Amino acid sequence: MSVLIFVETNEGKVKPSSLEAVAYGAKVADMLGSSATALVLGELAQEELESIGGYGAKKVMHAADSRLNQINLLAYAEALAQAVEASGAKVLVMAKSSLGDPVAARVAGRFKAAFAGNVIELPTKEGEHLKVKRSVYTGKAFAYTILKGEKQIIAIKKNILAIEKTDAKATVEAFTPTLDDALFSRVKTVKVEKASDEISLPEADIVVSGGRGLKGPENWGMIEELAKVLGAATGCSKPVSDMGWRPHHEHVGQTGVKVSPNLYIAVGISGAIQHLAGVNSSKNIVVINKDPEAPFFKAADYGIVGDAFEVVPKLTEALKKRLG
Ligand code: FAD
Repeated sequence: MSVLIFVETNEGKVKPSSLEAVAYGAKVADMLGSSATALVLGELAQEELESIGGYGAKKVMHAADSRLNQINLLAYAEALAQAVEASGAKVLVMAKSSLGDPVAARVAGRFKAAFAGNVIELPTKEGEHLKVKRSVYTGKAFAYTILKGEKQIIAIKKNILAIEKTDAKATVEAFTPTLDDALFSRVKTVKVEKASDEISLPEADIVVSGGRGLKGPENWGMIEELAKVLGAATGCSKPVSDMGWRPHHEHVGQTGVKVSPNLYIAVGISGAIQHLAGVNSSKNIVVINKDPEAPFFKAADYGIVGDAFEVVPKLTEALKKRLG
């Protein structure tokens, strides 16, 4: 059962979430006694392609078609389906993302494949099939799912695996899918413009989030400064965005953005279940709250009981010294 991994790129680099998918796919291939191949769509430097080998893929199929430089769902799904056929892969692995999810759904439809999203652990074997553990109900429960299809597709959440990188280089092979121009003309993106230079919240490795405990929008400077020192994205609780202290796209939780960073720092947030639903798959949670009884402390890996207005500037200064 060979394994194909769909790799996403951004600004000439492989996305970290896709490198994790490669490492995951390589471990699945090991378990199945086969090898892992990665698929890259669009132009990318040779060095970057080869470096995917450091995460466990022996081979990279590269479709260097410049029409694929910009995301196009129909063309991506078609190219991926052709790569599945060309490689003979039985298992397809990808990162759960706003691109991965719809592409996976289309490819699953094409092959009548079994698809599981939100997967949070390596699979086990259940006879001929794979059994996966998935995070469901916004992280409040786990589902154990057996993938019963000739082809099996797994989309993994971020930060579920400790990744070891080696210096191994992948063999890069040109892959030329047949892509009709109509695929590109039906939906055509004419321009992509960055809305801002902010780090994308759903993709961020570190998130610094503020709640009502910060008293008002005028106090967000210290959150932004801490985020800047750490290279983090900023988030907030729902009331904070409802009151217009912060933009709605920063609202984290059940009704907002779900994040799963390596580090989530919550400042002046009580830890209501609706907020936790959006952050509980973070790898490490640090809570700063002046109330030692705040519910967030129960979900925290590290907690600081103290006034945010004293703790945050001190923390930022200390980090500045340490991180240069
Ligand atoms: P508060 O609950 O007011 O907590 C403020 C915290 O700051 C307190 O713990 C306090 O001790 C601390 N604090 C105060 N001063 C300081 C200081 N100087 N230093 C340090 N700490 C201090 N909420 C979300 O966040 N996301 C959601 O997606 C979401 N969805 C919801 C959906 C539904 C259907 C409902 C009913 C509610 C939802 N909520 C959501 C709201 C949620 O229930 C809470 O009301 C909200 O998360 C509380 O926000 P908060 O922690 O910022 O404010």
